[in-house]
Amino acid sequence: MQTKIKTNGLIIKQQNIGEQDRLVTILTRDVGVIRAFVRQGKNIKSKNCAPTGLLCYSELKLYKGRQDYYTVESATLIDMFSGLKKELSRLSLAEYFCEIAATVAPTEQEAEEHLRLLLNALFLLSKGDVSELLIKSAVEMRLASISGYMPDLLMCPRCGAYEKDEMYFLLSGQLFCKDCFEKSPFPYGEKLSKSLTLALRHLVFAEDKKLFSFTLSEESLKKLSYITENYLSKKVEKEFATLQFYKTISS
Ligand SMILES: [Zn+2]
Repeated sequence: MQTKIKTNGLIIKQQNIGEQDRLVTILTRDVGVIRAFVRQGKNIKSKNCAPTGLLCYSELKLYKGRQDYYTVESATLIDMFSGLKKELSRLSLAEYFCEIAATVAPTEQEAEEHLRLLLNALFLLSKGDVSELLIKSAVEMRLASISGYMPDLLMCPRCGAYEKDEMYFLLSGQLFCKDCFEKSPFPYGEKLSKSLTLALRHLVFAEDKKLFSFTLSEESLKKLSYITENYLSKKVEKEFATLQFYKTISS
């Protein structure tokens, strides 16, 4: 018995199998993260080769056999974000986004929000007019938030303060005002200026279409990026190899 599925998906990992075939991991709109076999996927003469390459977004016809993996019956390319290949730092950052998605996105259930976020991020990264650190922070914090790791940024949990000149973010996901933080037993928190507090809230609460539209000084953006990557890494208990590579490239 075969289940047939028609969906759209982004290829987030690609492995070669033997001479001609390919195994891909896909972030799909309808069934989340899946692994699928592409017969003749490595053969450049095959029509399924180009649309199942890494970072390609394609319309897919899949079937699921008796075992727990899928086979790509046919694939049609929608976008390949060709601007990513213009700079190695963009490409390596895109691969980091894929590794995060592979880690946190659901499997065997719809993942439209995850997919849309990744596509928007790759589109901006590919165009190259938005800062890489801004896109990186937004993807890290938003993917964490929609995958069950939303931090509690509404107010200081002790006194209810919403906004202070100085607040402290704990990597466990809590936000304290300065006074309460200093009286708390927590040894370490990231000091946030007012603009950083607002930026962090923006990443969690902004509408999808406004997510990447904010400005911050270069220095604050570096700090935001430091906070979001450490928050995500701590929550999912993982060091991302692709992030280390991106840092090597971009430094
Ligand atoms: Zn407080």
